[in-house]
Amino acid sequence: MRLYEPVTLAIPLAKGIGEFIMREGRLPDGDELREMLKSLGMEESCLDRGLALYRSRFLIALAFPRGETLVVDVISSSGELSDALEVVAYRDRKLEAFVVEILPTNDLEYEGNIGVEPIIIDEKTLELESSPVLGHFEEDEEGLFLVIYRETYERWKSGGDVHTCPVCGGELVWKGEKAYCQDCGYGVRVKD
Ligand SMILES: [Zn+2]
Repeated sequence: MRLYEPVTLAIPLAKGIGEFIMREGRLPDGDELREMLKSLGMEESCLDRGLALYRSRFLIALAFPRGETLVVDVISSSGELSDALEVVAYRDRKLEAFVVEILPTNDLEYEGNIGVEPIIIDEKTLELESSPVLGHFEEDEEGLFLVIYRETYERWKSGGDVHTCPVCGGELVWKGEKAYCQDCGYGVRVKD
């Protein structure tokens, strides 16, 4: 998989953390997070007192626990901060749920909008209570696509708006099983 912008790592990482929580009923620890980042093409390059730094050709990820919250910052390796994202996972005691969110690291400078709904998982049943549109990115001759499974698509259709781009919040135009976004240039593809 080729990784370009922070969103191409943040979305599959959030998906992986959500799946882990639904399976294990807890947040991943440092080692488990490391395995996830490695499987997404990131190499570990530094580890110091709970802080871990990972990198690929285009991206840098910084992982650190903040109390009971897991935070992974994803930054372009150019150092550009305007498209940096933060994947945050925590247990919300009031909601009695685990929450995984993708947020702009820098609210003031962030140029887009993340259209993905937070992942909300009931802490008792471990069932998904929201309809986040998460997948992984693949490149084909038409560009880079967020590839989602049919199940995710069906959930999105019943709980959200399939014409809102999950990457940027812009307008999606569907042609069969593929959708295109004029605003961010990423597309969405449904996979069986
Ligand atoms: Zn878009």
